Amino acid sequence: MERPRDIPFETLAQVTGTDWTVGRGELNKALAQIKEQFAEDDPMILALEIEERARLYRRVFEGAALTPSALAKHWTRVFEEMHRRSEQATNVSTPYTQCDTCGGHRFVVYSTRPMPETFWMKQHGFKSRGEIEEYAPCPECSSAIDGSFRRFDGTKMTPPDPAQVREMLSR
Ligand SMILES: [Zn+2]
Repeated sequence: MERPRDIPFETLAQVTGTDWTVGRGELNKALAQIKEQFAEDDPMILALEIEERARLYRRVFEGAALTPSALAKHWTRVFEEMHRRSEQATNVSTPYTQCDTCGGHRFVVYSTRPMPETFWMKQHGFKSRGEIEEYAPCPECSSAIDGSFRRFDGTKMTPPDPAQVREMLSR
């Protein structure tokens, strides 16, 4: 009688390029270790997760051999490592600084002006509320940042230079 298919086992063999017959012992052992760390009754979900972690493993340990036992050993680590890296990537351009002037934000509000009233607002009797905050790079820690940007109409907006910002902050 043919033994029933074991999808997670087959997937683990496939992603690690392991021969079923020669590597059966290692595959079974690694699969048991993976199941200890990943409680999932549905074999299809487990198989998909094995594929996913194998993909993460290749990115975290570039060039390292992906064996069944290595994947089992680093099962949690590859996931955490990728999570950590993607968090870091979002903050790459603004490393954290300690700065009393901006509180580490690297930008300061140097002035506020009333929210403008648009034609549509006037037509419909809306009064503008609140203020628009004008930001400039912090003069203490981030004066090297180019804070200029293009407005939606293409004109260039350049915040005041660090000396001016300092002066405006001291008011
Ligand atoms: Zn600062």
